[in-house]
Amino acid sequence: MTTYTPMMQQYLAVKEQAKDAILFFRLGDFYEMFFDDALEASRELEITLTGRDGGAEQRIPMCGVPYHSAESYIARLVDKGYKVAICEQVEDPAEAKGVVRREIVRIVTPGTVMDSRSLEGGANNYIAAITKGGSGYGLAACDITTGELYVTATGASLELLADELNTYRPSEIVAGDDVLELFRSEDSPLAAAKPAPVLTPRTKTPEDAALLAEHFGAGETDGLPDVNVEGLCILVGYLRETQKRALGHVKHIRRYEPNQYLIMDPFTRRNLELTETVRERSRKGSLLWLLDRTVTAMGARMLRRWIEKPLMNKGAIEERLEAVDALYRGLIAREDVRLALKDVYDLERLVGRIAYGSANARDLLALGKSLAQVPAVTEACRTSGSATLSRLAEQMDPCADIRAWIEAAIVDDPPVSVRDGGMIKDGYDAFLDQLREAGRNGRQWIAELERQEREATGIKSLKIGYNKVFGYFIEVTKANMGALPEGRYERKQTLANAERYVTPELKEKEALILEAQDKMVDLEYELFAALRDRIAAHIPRLQRLAERLAAVDALQSMAAVSAARHYRRPEVTDGYDLVVKLGRHPVVEAVMTNGAFIANDTGLTKRESSMLLITGPNMAGKSTYMRQVAVICLMAQIGCFVPAEEATVPLVDRIFTRIGAADDLIGGQSTFMVEMMDIQVMTEKATPRSLVIIDELGRGTSTGEGMAIAQAVIEFLHDQVGCKTLVSTHFHELAHLEDSLEGLRNVCMAVKESGRDVTFLRKLVPGAASTSYGIYCAQIAGLPESIIARSYELLSTFEARSAWTGPEAAGTPSAPGVRDKLPPAGAAAEAVPAAYGAQAEEEAVASASAVTAPQTAPA
Ligand code: ADP
Repeated sequence: MTTYTPMMQQYLAVKEQAKDAILFFRLGDFYEMFFDDALEASRELEITLTGRDGGAEQRIPMCGVPYHSAESYIARLVDKGYKVAICEQVEDPAEAKGVVRREIVRIVTPGTVMDSRSLEGGANNYIAAITKGGSGYGLAACDITTGELYVTATGASLELLADELNTYRPSEIVAGDDVLELFRSEDSPLAAAKPAPVLTPRTKTPEDAALLAEHFGAGETDGLPDVNVEGLCILVGYLRETQKRALGHVKHIRRYEPNQYLIMDPFTRRNLELTETVRERSRKGSLLWLLDRTVTAMGARMLRRWIEKPLMNKGAIEERLEAVDALYRGLIAREDVRLALKDVYDLERLVGRIAYGSANARDLLALGKSLAQVPAVTEACRTSGSATLSRLAEQMDPCADIRAWIEAAIVDDPPVSVRDGGMIKDGYDAFLDQLREAGRNGRQWIAELERQEREATGIKSLKIGYNKVFGYFIEVTKANMGALPEGRYERKQTLANAERYVTPELKEKEALILEAQDKMVDLEYELFAALRDRIAAHIPRLQRLAERLAAVDALQSMAAVSAARHYRRPEVTDGYDLVVKLGRHPVVEAVMTNGAFIANDTGLTKRESSMLLITGPNMAGKSTYMRQVAVICLMAQIGCFVPAEEATVPLVDRIFTRIGAADDLIGGQSTFMVEMMDIQVMTEKATPRSLVIIDELGRGTSTGEGMAIAQAVIEFLHDQVGCKTLVSTHFHELAHLEDSLEGLRNVCMAVKESGRDVTFLRKLVPGAASTSYGIYCAQIAGLPESIIARSYELLSTFEARSAWTGPEAAGTPSAPGVRDKLPPAGAAAEAVPAAYGAQAEEEAVASASAVTAPQTAPA
């Protein structure tokens, strides 16, 4: 049996309480790690691994970091998915008998980071608790930096749970093992909820229920389904365990049903590049990046939430549109709002730190300055001409009382530390003023002493200084030492060129000065903490104010972008028809460097056509077009103007997209399997109010099978669901479906040919393409000319053969000779449906001689 030293025994006892965390064990000015923690941390943090005798035969592995720079080390570990338990000395070492008492004061986990350095201002950091009950799954998502807490139930559907989780992207999930298993198994929809969060197993304990009742005010949890109450128990219990304090800002539960918002699966969110791009996973190039002209961090987070959760309520959408409209037209009002918001800090996170007890004087000052801006914001809203903004302004409580408290107490440029004084204004507290006066007198006395000593000794360079170790001293250069009289001067410290001394009277005065100094610092801290607590009692008011300021900011952001990019107000309806005149893809348009974006119309109507079958070569712009339609719908439903000349947008309940992306291999499943699984969900969940987008339906298997499945899926969506659908395919043979399916129209991306040159016109025209220009693409990609020539040669043999044996033999199931079904060259101009609008028609006519529904491979 190993007998460890008493300190190591204490360490091991503390470590028992935080087995899944790396324990930062405070020893003097360092946090030390031991055993496996030391091995892991030294590797991850690239710090030296040493050892320590702890009573065992072998030295104990150890590494450490200085306490004053611990924050950055903790942040690095947490970023890598570790939990860090911080163990402090909880009694004064001078007064301790035996080993100083130590306790874990906090466990930092990826979902509970408070230090703003590792947090992005424009994004939330959520921790989610998931529970499974008789009625299905419950989800509670909380951001402890802002105090937001969302609760919903998703029924038995794991897909819906995955969709919801995807909107929060929690960095940590707390749940029972049965639920966590769903994240680990490869074929579960939850496994796709990337980036993989930290999974923390925890179930409800008997104490949790009492804690829940104590934490939330009366009525806050009333009426919640059991599955959600259990989730809150787990969440609140876990937060208390790790944070070891009451979180006074997490008091308000925002409960909703998933179908209050437009539903999108994780794949769709990614494909539409709402908050990050598919390829680089960067914010730049996403819809959020485009629409974000917010001036505050909370506005940026609000806008992100709006984009993640488009509304299903026409009234609420109209309210936002009304505000965007007013600010769109009122350039001055818009500038006023932006200017007023500019000096508003991140109120939500400031409030979070106040509740947490980690706010310093600079935070309070920032809060005060932010509150000082509120009157300007409300004034700008009131005069904006928008009813929505006026109402928001009316609901803004300027919290003038809180502002006045802060202005009376905190100096203009307070230090970071709250333990060194220098935070509180003169005149705020009579006793503090007295102590300061004493301190000033003390300094004067020192200056006077310096003068006297110089005179008495005749040493002009004699000076009185102060340092933390030796206190006040009289310094005399070595050359002048001889001039000092004997006796009175006691030597304290020897430097290279000087000696430092003290005298009895200096010592006595020093004690008085330092005592006053200590008292002053303690009193300042007390006054500061009292002010912080006083403000903490008003947190709900500040949170409501923050939310309204954030909404104003998000609205002005949408208005600013809409105006700059010439978007138009959509007409949002409860009907079916989606009609867009000259629509554009907002992001593709914004990042285009050469040439102009070519606008295209969309008409998905009950009477004419609810389904477009889009053919055309690669790179022609098919997927851009389809995405554009989805993004326009989404933008309308968040209350933003849309990139189009005119748009009538119905409320869409779900958007499904199945768009081929380079990286859609999930856990080794083949692209085809993933596609089929998505389509299965689509067939099950789509309603007539949904928008379905499928890019290159049926690829990834043999031509015959792919085409058969594609046709069957199209028929199902057309006959059984009746949703608005855009399908692109390179099976131009499917064009015949236009004859049998009443609501389906063939369209294609126009192409201009001259000789072997092909120009993409990016214009959507009626009709079907008969070739995908694959060889042409190979040519552009730079394949050797011999291969290109040989390909064209082979193609004509294949085509000749299939024309001779008929489509059946070529692997086309029931497709009749497609070629006969195609409109003749130039038919495009005649067949423009009404919904395509006059301008498109004109353009199509004008270019009818050159623009054709592509027919054959270039000769
Ligand atoms: P496809 O899906 O047919 O292969 P994409 O939609 O990916 O083609 O479009 C290929 C490229 O063409 C895009 O990256 C974009 O730069 C450009 N593009 C697409 N649509 C348009 C348009 N309407 N106007 C201008 N450029 C476009």
